[in-house]
Amino acid sequence: VRISIKDFATELSVPSTEIIKKLMKRGTIATINQEIDYALAAELAEEYDIIVEPEEEKDVMEEVFGEVIDDEKDLEKRPPVVVVMGHVDHGKTSLLDAIRSTHVTSGEAGGITQHIGASSISLNGEKITFLDTPGHEAFTAMRMRGAQVTDIAILVVAADDGVMPQTIEAINHARAANVQIIVAMNKIDKPGANPDRVKQELSDQGLLVEDWGGDVICVPVSALKHQGIDNLLEMVLLVAEMGDLKANPRRKARGTIIEAQLDKGRGPVATVLVQSGTLQIGDPIVAGAAYGRVRAMVDSKGKSVKKAGPSMPVEILGLSEVPIGGDMFYVANSDKQARQVAERIKAQGRVQMIGQTPNKVSLDDLFTQIQEGKMKELNIIIKADVQGSVEAVRQSLEKLSNEEVRIRTIHGGVGTITESDVQLASASGAIIIGFNVRPEAATKAYADREEVDVRLYRVIYNAIDDIKAAMKGMLDPEF
Ligand code: GDP
Repeated sequence: VRISIKDFATELSVPSTEIIKKLMKRGTIATINQEIDYALAAELAEEYDIIVEPEEEKDVMEEVFGEVIDDEKDLEKRPPVVVVMGHVDHGKTSLLDAIRSTHVTSGEAGGITQHIGASSISLNGEKITFLDTPGHEAFTAMRMRGAQVTDIAILVVAADDGVMPQTIEAINHARAANVQIIVAMNKIDKPGANPDRVKQELSDQGLLVEDWGGDVICVPVSALKHQGIDNLLEMVLLVAEMGDLKANPRRKARGTIIEAQLDKGRGPVATVLVQSGTLQIGDPIVAGAAYGRVRAMVDSKGKSVKKAGPSMPVEILGLSEVPIGGDMFYVANSDKQARQVAERIKAQGRVQMIGQTPNKVSLDDLFTQIQEGKMKELNIIIKADVQGSVEAVRQSLEKLSNEEVRIRTIHGGVGTITESDVQLASASGAIIIGFNVRPEAATKAYADREEVDVRLYRVIYNAIDDIKAAMKGMLDPEF
């Protein structure tokens, strides 16, 4: 639950600058459009003797639209939704381009692909949906907002460069999201390509490829020369088949806003991914505080369409305002209902966090969370100055796992704590442990806003002691 400083100040009838000053005293530099979370808002409001209560937008949507419950017999196969991740310069963009340019259905407007944030391609009559923004940042940003849209991650690794820091990050982001990984071993056309070395490095990260006796599919490709692309896509379809991906196309549509912006001529435009049901022209929809009737729909090939079923990305026109990427959208029973829901959300003074927000975790309330049965696993991210320390901290902490709670390192790396670490922590309900590293002020402020618990240590034993102390309360009283 978040509110902008501006709106918050208006609610309290105090000048925004006063709130900003108060935040500054707490070590946070903020601007008036910046959002603060509920806990902080409550704390600040208390200084004015005002008690604020959170009104969950999620509850409005849940109350009005309920959960999707389908009969097995109504479920039909749906295309997989795929993201492309990997280290910078390993060929993510080139791979997406290669896939799109080789698989535009012939006969369509000169084969021009339009950038709408996601694209649908087909191979042997089967469809695959790609999220167009390469990298794990966009993917994790959506997860932070509760959106779970991806089924498969293609991990691009350059065969001449191997596993690099962002490769590891991508692996961990995908794992944290429980998304299947397929490796695209790219740049095999290059003289320096050394697939065996890369496979070794992947296995060091726990990804054992099939020809080494593991179960991770690894496809050699050259995005530049368009080699191996079909093979890669066939593997995507195979993994999708095994995942038995299904949805009910015959119900009112709902799904996720992939991206949205204000277009000068056309007004608010949003790319949406339908996840259940079928979206049709004329449907009254609501997404956060934005509502309206779907006036026009365009698919990723720039073609007007009247309907979009499960896993289909389409750009829609007709919303009252620009919705927020990562938010859910719903088809309402009527224009009136769509408007009313949007107005209720707006009245709450906020427009974010619709989906299922992962639990925020802090060592301070670890005990309570365990007691409430909310936590069986404590996810941690370890950043340290040298690899040896990452390993040492990780081993000592994971050893603390007991029957009630397992300590799991979802990401570890050398270097300072970055925004990407905070995003991963926020999306996965993890805490961050920094060993001989220190985040920049802006990253620290970001972590505070996201309510990510960041703990910094210089001595390993202190980290162990803290976690131990936090876990103490978890043990059953009789022990
Ligand atoms: P991204 O940062 O992961 O999106 O990487 P890009 O797609 O921008 O590619 C980075 C560079 O690698 C560009 O100069 C590409 O032309 C080059 N590249 C990408 N794929 C291949 C490939 O399969 N073979 C070769 N030789 N070069 C490639």
